[in-house]
Amino acid sequence: MQKEKLYGKTLDELIAVAKRVGMPGFAARQIADWLYRKKIRSISEMTNLSIKMREVLLEYYEMGLAEPLQTSVSSDGTKKYLYSVLNGKFIETAFIPEKDRATICVSSQAGCKMGCVFCMTGKQGFQGNLSSNEILNQFRSLPEYRQITNMVYMGMGEPLDNLNEVLRSLDILTSDWGYGWSPSRITVSTVGILNRLNEFLEKSRCHLAVSLHSPFDEERSKLMPIQRTNTVEEVLNIIRNFDFNKQRRVSFEYILFKGINDTPRHVRELARILNGIKCRINIIRFHPVPGSEFSSPGEEETVAFRDALNAKGIIATIRASRGVDINAACGLLSTLKQNKT
Ligand code: SF4
Repeated sequence: MQKEKLYGKTLDELIAVAKRVGMPGFAARQIADWLYRKKIRSISEMTNLSIKMREVLLEYYEMGLAEPLQTSVSSDGTKKYLYSVLNGKFIETAFIPEKDRATICVSSQAGCKMGCVFCMTGKQGFQGNLSSNEILNQFRSLPEYRQITNMVYMGMGEPLDNLNEVLRSLDILTSDWGYGWSPSRITVSTVGILNRLNEFLEKSRCHLAVSLHSPFDEERSKLMPIQRTNTVEEVLNIIRNFDFNKQRRVSFEYILFKGINDTPRHVRELARILNGIKCRINIIRFHPVPGSEFSSPGEEETVAFRDALNAKGIIATIRASRGVDINAACGLLSTLKQNKT
């Protein structure tokens, strides 16, 4: 019989576990404490549970932690980890250390259905949704786990296309019985799936990032097929009508493609469509993917684009490219090779 994984279960699910094995209800919080607060790797180490209880637990459950299979290290200190998921599929996770913070970029799916034309993950197609166990294991099993200060759901996959598991993982990260993180340390990035966006906004207090990349319908449709059915105009309407608290941030990701979305016309239209929304734009350099006709504008043009947005009253920053040499930068994550072997 395959054992169930304890790691990745919410408190309600752990209460059900306790009930199933004949433990008192309060044991669920003790188990949560071992899973999410202490650095153990096996149920046998849960020493405030009786030996008998640990034995019963071990009959049906395992911790469910899995070490990364491979590590790549960039010259800029970024690391990329390969994890095995979904019985034979693979995902990548990036760890990005900076002077005053260390961010982990987690994957929420193996591959992706969204087909954004500038993204290697999009090119490999979809292999499956990760469980909350597989999402959080990327964090817990990272060798740098204790250094992590921030988490972004910007790795492989579209988080709102796997919303239930993403919400379970956020619940574990931000609850007092879980990791107890402030939601302001976590950002979830989406292409904007209309029928899930409200649910995400209502059920979580984490920051929202929307992949924008063009303010024009036709142009965005060519870059991101999602625009054909879920327009950015409708996404902005949802954002406009939602009551964000002061701590919660909305940002828009904007990969700059030379000669495509980097003109004064784009600046004007961005200022128009974002009018009235308290937000910022993260300008991202395009990292070439094989077979793509896009290129990145030079540093001067990129800075000029940022300054033009700032002059229109939009806070815009240029995101530093990290881990390009190990294909860990934005748009480069792919496990196509491993899936084939
Ligand atoms: S950019 Fe994000 S949503 Fe688009 S294909 Fe890549 S992983 Fe999927």
